[in-house]
Amino acid sequence: MEDSHSLQKLNRKLCYCGHIPVMKTSWTESNPGRRFWGCRFYGKDDACDFFDWADPTVHDRYKLVINGLLPKKNEGEKEKEKLSKTMRMYRLFFSLVVLYFVVRVVF
Ligand SMILES: [Zn+2]
Repeated sequence: MEDSHSLQKLNRKLCYCGHIPVMKTSWTESNPGRRFWGCRFYGKDDACDFFDWADPTVHDRYKLVINGLLPKKNEGEKEKEKLSKTMRMYRLFFSLVVLYFVVRVVF
């Protein structure tokens, strides 16, 4: 799999600024999950506007299914991020409590 991916990269043409394009995934409503080749600096000021679809058109049925699942996925990711923040706060609190007792015992 890794080898075929590397070969795909070698066979790719270069983007307009002369770099090997990178594969990205579209999450728009009209092309959910469809992969494409784009400039490695996509989203940055230095990026060129090179664009080439890697996957065929997304079938309407898959669009419906994927677009139906995406809100649940995004909701789950938000919940995961909230839980991660809570865990970081608990870890910080626990560390401060331990530090407090260590300082009290030593001094
Ligand atoms: Zn480029």
